[in-house]
Amino acid sequence: MSRVISLRDLQEMVRTGQDVKNLPADAIITPSARDYLHELESNAPRTPAPVPTGAPKAAAPAAAPSNDKLTPPTKVLNSKSPKAELEAFFNSPYAHNLKEQICEMGRRLWQRAYVDGNGGNMAIRVGEDIAICTPTLVSKGSLKPEDMCLVDFQGNQLFGTKKRTSEILMHLQIMQKQPKAIATCHCHPPYSTGFAVAGIVPPTCMIPEYEVFASVAIAPYRTPGTPEMGQLVAELVDKHNTILMANHGVVTWSHNGIEEAYWRMEIIEAYCRTLLVTAQLGKIPNTFTPTQLNDLLKIKQSLGYVDPRYGMKECELCDNAEWRPGVACAVEPKAEAVVGYDADAEAAVKAITEQILAKLKT
Ligand SMILES: [Zn+2]
Repeated sequence: MSRVISLRDLQEMVRTGQDVKNLPADAIITPSARDYLHELESNAPRTPAPVPTGAPKAAAPAAAPSNDKLTPPTKVLNSKSPKAELEAFFNSPYAHNLKEQICEMGRRLWQRAYVDGNGGNMAIRVGEDIAICTPTLVSKGSLKPEDMCLVDFQGNQLFGTKKRTSEILMHLQIMQKQPKAIATCHCHPPYSTGFAVAGIVPPTCMIPEYEVFASVAIAPYRTPGTPEMGQLVAELVDKHNTILMANHGVVTWSHNGIEEAYWRMEIIEAYCRTLLVTAQLGKIPNTFTPTQLNDLLKIKQSLGYVDPRYGMKECELCDNAEWRPGVACAVEPKAEAVVGYDADAEAAVKAITEQILAKLKT
C-alpha cells in the first residue's frame, strides 16, 4: 500500500531539514499537504518554468500554515476506525474545507453546463478506504457542505444526512485501482460527451494543455451505477486520467486534488470543442512533430501524470486513426485509390495494345 503523506509529515520533514522533493513516487499526498508543498514552492526563489508546475521544484523553510482548516487528522483513518473518530473527522474544519471545495467545483460544473439535472458527482479520498462524496438528487449548482456523505470503499454510507450518489462505486473503484487518485470528478460536458457517444477518442498532437494534463481513453457503455461500469473505467486508470464513458459522459481523477480533477474537465471539453471548429475549417489540421510531442511528454512525466505513451517510439506517438477528417500525424497517410481508376484493367489494356502494335509491325 502506498504511503499517505500528510501535512504533519511534511512539516516534520521541513523541521528536521529533510528535502520534501524526496517523497516516494507512489505516495498519496493529502490535499492540505499538497497546499503546503505549493506554499513551500511559492516561497522558494523563482525559477523560470515553461508550464505551471503541479509538483514542488524547490523547497525552502516556511512557516507552517496557521489556518487549521488545512490540518488533516493526526492518524490516517479507515472504515474500521471507531465511529466517534470518523464522526469527529467528518465534522472537523479540515473535512469541512474539503466539502467546500466540492461545492465550489460543483458550482463551476453547473455554470459551465457540464452537468444537467442532478447529474454529475465527485469524491475525495480521505483515508485508507473512505471518501467524502456528493449526494444523489442534488444539482451540482446548489451543493452545500452539509449535503456531503462519507462512504467506505464498498459504497456503504457511514455519515451524512443525504443519500450518497448512485454512481459512487465508479469513483471508489478508480481509487482502489489507482492508489494515486485522491479526487475524482464525473459529469456530462456536451462536446466531450459527443465524442463518447460517437465512440471516438479525440485525436492527439494539436494542443499542448491537452497533451500535458489529460490522458484519454474510452470505456464501453454499461448501466450507470453498476459495478460493471466502474470496473470497465477502473481498468483504464493506471495509464489514463480522463475516461470518456461511452454514451454517458466523462470521469477524471487527480493525484493533487478535486480542483485539478475539475480542470481536466475544462481541458478535455475545450479541446473537443476546438477540434469541432478545426474540422469545419476545411483543412487537414497542423499537428506537432514527434520531437515537439516528446518535449510535452517529458513535461507531463515530470508532473507525475500518467500517460500510455511514455517510452514509445516516436512513430507510435500520434495515433489519430479514428479521427475524421483524417488527421495525419507522424505517420504517412496511405495513398488513396483514385476513384474510377483500376490499375489492373489499365495494365491489361496496355498489354493488349502492345500485342496489337507488335502484330501490325510484323
Ligand atoms: Zn453520469
